[in-house]
Amino acid sequence: MSANVAPHYELFIGGKETPGSSGERRAVLNPATNQPLASTALAHAEDSRHAMEAAESAFRSSWWATDDGGRRGKALLRLATLIEQQAEEFALLETQNMGKTLRESRGDVGFIVRTLEYIAGLADKIEGETIPVPGPRFDYTVREPMGVTVHIAPWNYPLLLAMRSVAPALAAGNAVVLKPASLTPLTALRCARVALEAGIPAGIFNVVVGNGSEVGEALVGDSRCRSVSFTGSGEVGVRIAELAAHRVIPATLELGGKSPVVVFPDADLERAAKGIGFGIFGNAGQMCWAGSRLIVARAVHDELVAKVRGIAEGLKLGAGTEEKSEMGPVVSHDQMERVLGFVHEARDSGANVVAGGSRVTEGALGEGNFVRPTILDGVAPTSRVVQDEVFGPVLSVLSFDTPEEAVKLANDTRFGLFASVWTKDLGTAHTVARQLEAGMVTVNEAPATFPQTPFGGYKESGLGFEQGRHVVEAYTRRKNVLINLGSAKPKR
Ligand code: NAD
Repeated sequence: MSANVAPHYELFIGGKETPGSSGERRAVLNPATNQPLASTALAHAEDSRHAMEAAESAFRSSWWATDDGGRRGKALLRLATLIEQQAEEFALLETQNMGKTLRESRGDVGFIVRTLEYIAGLADKIEGETIPVPGPRFDYTVREPMGVTVHIAPWNYPLLLAMRSVAPALAAGNAVVLKPASLTPLTALRCARVALEAGIPAGIFNVVVGNGSEVGEALVGDSRCRSVSFTGSGEVGVRIAELAAHRVIPATLELGGKSPVVVFPDADLERAAKGIGFGIFGNAGQMCWAGSRLIVARAVHDELVAKVRGIAEGLKLGAGTEEKSEMGPVVSHDQMERVLGFVHEARDSGANVVAGGSRVTEGALGEGNFVRPTILDGVAPTSRVVQDEVFGPVLSVLSFDTPEEAVKLANDTRFGLFASVWTKDLGTAHTVARQLEAGMVTVNEAPATFPQTPFGGYKESGLGFEQGRHVVEAYTRRKNVLINLGSAKPKR
């Protein structure tokens, strides 16, 4: 155990650390060693109800929902400052719990701070409109907080993806209940405590840790839940949508991806190779928007694949806590087995394993979940490794002869989260960016996003969006107020 990690973490409900109704605890593992890192209290459905009750009560009785948005903005800014002051502790905790490198965790914490700052500035800009209506009447709209919002997060960017939706929900005046992924709950628990120190009232930011099928479903199914924001797999996303439909509440769904990286023959191949490497080996490939399908012009195929292979083979694998590590382990033993299953199936079907293709079994890394950066060439466009989300450091390579073929291959997926295009030709860049069926496209850039740019997917990659300046409104409901001024008989 490191000095940075407490031996045990309780649930955070109503501004207090609480052991949960059953008193049960669950171990949290370090994926670099598969050894226990800490334990957390394990919530059950009863604790979900307790958290919803605490949130509802804080929403009704504290100043949070009713006071000037500027006051909420200040509290969110204080939270940003406190997280920034503790950035190194947050980053280290994330790395030890999730496995990503310290450089990546530091990047995540920076993004969280920037998100809070950006969203804080929007808290006093939640505006309505006046609408001209006939007769002596006055009509206006107001945006009100929804009440209690539920946020369910995955394990790949544990705190970043949680705060991406929690921050705007708070800015809008809601009380939130967050359920982090069971594998990676530690930074969320720490963050809720810091939020209290920042002046966010007790009960406005609650965290429960438990199995999704029990605790998550109890939260969404609770009559006090007014909106749910879910980031995770498509399978669970559909379940959340069903629960939300049943309760007639909005659901924002940020789901999986199988993102194409389209490289035209005129592209700067050196830059493209670096972008491709970052887009598939970053976070050990555990990114919803990982550029997992390289679609390359046949004329430059060999040259580009050789460059990406050089990057893959040059990456230094190691525990995320080692400053020199460039790629950490995948999050769990099960995830490693899943990733390798895809690789073995592709190899058995005739794919050419250009790089990697196995786990590390030697030395200390053999104890952890380290998968070598892998490149699979000669894969069939219809194969499972090309169509399904692997969620690991595995790149599949496809080739094209014409731009039409490139776009057809790129769009030949049920997902539509992200795509990137590499070319020096302005016409090709804009034309292809429009033709790609994805919620986000980059040109000559690896995956990149900012708190001010919308993040969301087409097709089975999701519903709704996070980030951007309209996101706070997504956590409000609109009320129309019509006033009869009474000075004359109203005319229709
Ligand atoms: P997951 O769907 O297994 O779990 C996500 C969360 O849902 C966890 O907190 C889990 O405990 C909870 N959950 C599980 N079953 C539930 C249920 N029945 N009801 C309520 N909650 C339940 O996903 P994961 O394995 O943690 O994350 C990986 C997935 O997330 C990948 O598919 C990835 O593409 C996706 N993802 C999407 C984005 C995006 O922005 N689009 C970002 C990151 C990850």
